[in-house]
Amino acid sequence: MEARINPGDTVGILGSGQLGRMLAMAAARLGLRTHIYAPDRGPALDVCAQSTIAPYDDETALGAFAASVAVVSYEFENVPAATAAFLAARRPVRPGSQALATTQDRLTEKTFLNGLGIPTASFAAVDDLAGLERAVAALGRPSILKTRRFGYDGKGQVLLRESTLLCEAFDGLGRQPAILEGLVPFTREVSVIGARGLQGAFAAWDVCENEHENHILARTRVPARLKPETAQAAIDMTGRIAAALDYVGVITVEMFLVEETIDGAMQEKLVVNEIAPRVHNSGHWTIDGAVTSQFEQHIRAICGWPLGSPRRHGRIEMRNLIGAEAQGWHELLSEPGLSLHLYGKHEARAGRKMGHVTRILDESAPFPEDL
Ligand code: AMP
Repeated sequence: MEARINPGDTVGILGSGQLGRMLAMAAARLGLRTHIYAPDRGPALDVCAQSTIAPYDDETALGAFAASVAVVSYEFENVPAATAAFLAARRPVRPGSQALATTQDRLTEKTFLNGLGIPTASFAAVDDLAGLERAVAALGRPSILKTRRFGYDGKGQVLLRESTLLCEAFDGLGRQPAILEGLVPFTREVSVIGARGLQGAFAAWDVCENEHENHILARTRVPARLKPETAQAAIDMTGRIAAALDYVGVITVEMFLVEETIDGAMQEKLVVNEIAPRVHNSGHWTIDGAVTSQFEQHIRAICGWPLGSPRRHGRIEMRNLIGAEAQGWHELLSEPGLSLHLYGKHEARAGRKMGHVTRILDESAPFPEDL
């Protein structure tokens, strides 16, 4: 049996961004230390006990990092497979390589989901221009061409309209291996954030409803406006995905809600867009708005500790502070009941996530714009 991880031990995190920062803060609250490993200096370095700035293929630095920690996790899904394998030979890496391999590649991910009977957008693999022409003939337009790997916040994708020239679209993505997706006629975007413990226990927060602006998450409200049975189905799906990946840690599943009227009755259908093998921006509200935050839950899970309760404290609104929006921090602090989080980033570049705010509303109070 593996040695138990105890308060006082050190958790290793790959990545130095705001997710790593909030993981380190949650770990500290439980008496754990954090060692951040990243190629660049980021906001997590302000709050960790130890840090290593080195490339992900520096085996000397990785070896010393592994020797200093009890368990390794990460704040982003694009951890190179060789890095994960090198570390996994020395320390438990959680979530494991199956989760990374499945979620790093949109084609592998969608094939895995369909294998579980979980609906996704229709899709076709695209390896070259002839393949793109065949895929467009099969799926039609409009459709979305995405790189198989390394896409985030709408990067690495292009909408194919009737007028789009296929060779220009494929050139625009650097002619990388890609996937063509049929356009899902969704009415809302939702996400489920769940956690699976080392012994297979599963817990999930209520379904989050997400609004994006310029492909970046702008606002999350919880609970999502869904029929109770649809919300339960979303959570059940997430539990099945986590179990199939033999997952340990927090997992996020982003879904589209499709509303269809069948025989005069409105039906809700869920289509999975993507899986993030990590804590997620749409779960930041859990720090202030739930008994256990997603960050604490992830730390508990990867340490093999019991999971905490995901119960909400009220109706929730979380808004990201993007770029210059964070300059309003002083006025925001004057709003009673608002929790402000700033990530300590020095440069407020356009489109950069600088912080977020959480508002906890009375459970029975409607959101202001629903009145
Ligand atoms: P992704 O990078 O896959 O999360 O996509 C970013 C955003 O593009 C999503 O949040 C959706 O708003 C939109 N999108 C992506 N794929 C599709 C699709 N197949 N159908 C409709 N909208 C999509």
